[in-house]
Amino acid sequence: MVSLDKIVQFAKSTGYIYQGSELYGGLANTWDYGPLGSLLKKNIKDAWIQKFQRETEYNVLVDTSILLNSEVWKASGHVGGFSDPLTECRKCNQRFRADQLIESFDKTVDPNGWSTDQMYDYIVKQEVKCPSCGSHDFLPIRKFNMMFETHQGVVKEQADQIYLRPETAQGIFINFKNIQRTTRRKLPFGVCQVGKSFRNEITPGNFIFRTREFEQMELEFFVKPGTELEWFEYWRQYAMDWLLGLGLSKDNLQFDNHKPEALSHYSNATTDIRYQFPWGFDELWGIASRTNYDLNAHQLQSNENLEYLDPETNEKYLPYVIEPSVGVERLLLAFLTNAYDEETLDSGDIRQVLRLHPQLAPYKVAVLPLVKKLHQDKALDIYKYLSKYFDVVYDETQNIGKRYRRQDSIGTYLCITVDHDTESLNSVTIRNRDTMEQDRIKIEDLRSYIEEKIKY
Ligand code: ATP
Repeated sequence: MVSLDKIVQFAKSTGYIYQGSELYGGLANTWDYGPLGSLLKKNIKDAWIQKFQRETEYNVLVDTSILLNSEVWKASGHVGGFSDPLTECRKCNQRFRADQLIESFDKTVDPNGWSTDQMYDYIVKQEVKCPSCGSHDFLPIRKFNMMFETHQGVVKEQADQIYLRPETAQGIFINFKNIQRTTRRKLPFGVCQVGKSFRNEITPGNFIFRTREFEQMELEFFVKPGTELEWFEYWRQYAMDWLLGLGLSKDNLQFDNHKPEALSHYSNATTDIRYQFPWGFDELWGIASRTNYDLNAHQLQSNENLEYLDPETNEKYLPYVIEPSVGVERLLLAFLTNAYDEETLDSGDIRQVLRLHPQLAPYKVAVLPLVKKLHQDKALDIYKYLSKYFDVVYDETQNIGKRYRRQDSIGTYLCITVDHDTESLNSVTIRNRDTMEQDRIKIEDLRSYIEEKIKY
């Protein structure tokens, strides 16, 4: 398994991910996605939308606001209700989330659902050490609200305080009636959303694993009460199959089913899909059966009836909800670490190769003139033609061997070389990143050849 330091270095030097605000000394735990990282991110989101929305008969897509009426967060419990348990080391004054301290102290312990007193007792009795200075002397746990506050309006004193959303889900719940009415969907149906969320995390870290600004891909799947556990099972497996289909190694994935006593009060089943990151298994994807908790909370807070009229039984009820929720950046980190490889060739040379699934690879194809002076025009023609259909990159610097290596190391799936025979035979060579084998292909067949190779 590649180390985290190596991945950070790799991501920076290739143009996947840069440190945020680097020019000004950085802003802690912020990251900018460069030319390759932004394409990888886009491809992950597209692949998720394809699988979770387009290819199901059940789901639609929405794009709701980051800024919401503050009543939403009262209803959801984010204001006044659940906030995170914060503790501080008396010696070094570093702050930590108590549940995370306990989890990293003993991976077999699950503090989900514990009271703050239970957590503090555990930390004191077990003499949990401060990850920063090693002492075990923590202040009692306080509740801390992780929402970023801001103000809407020009004059700050008079402006309304609002929040940046800490999850995309609430934008779906508050539109449940609108979506159901306008699409005339019958249960079961689901609503997908991809978008930014913000959490003022106490302990961000592990590169892009936990940040304060991140993107989520969430599905809220509405079902008839009583059928929720079947659907929970269905989406849990669907999510796992999608990850495996995109090449994440089976050995590095596991389900972590929450024990009944560790479930949140509104949930009757929760599983995390965990991935083996360089520091060990950690949460990638949370999947929860949330009963009718959210719709009920909004019904009470808004005084609007959010019930669904079942056309088959004529009953009115609040649907139950299954929520698979995954972070784009966490997935991206999983795909990067999974794909990174250093292969020893017969010659003894080390080949750095990023074995991303072709659907995710930032560039599907690189177009390379063998000799710049002789083959540039034709290569540029091919580049322009193919870029209508695929993400393509053009590269004419250094010798062809170096260019192949460069493309391998950033994950480009195919390399097309325009050579001395291209003019007379109307063909090019096309080289596969993983096998390094080359085919000779007619230019008119290039598009269908590439489509076939990268199809998912
Ligand atoms: P954690 O316990 O790791 O803080 P969570 O259980 O609070 O996560 P959820 O609220 O269930 O997370 O969010 C769903 C998903 O959103 C997570 O599985 C993760 O992929 C992603 N996510 C949550 N918080 C962050 C963050 N601060 N940075 C990056 N991704 C995040």
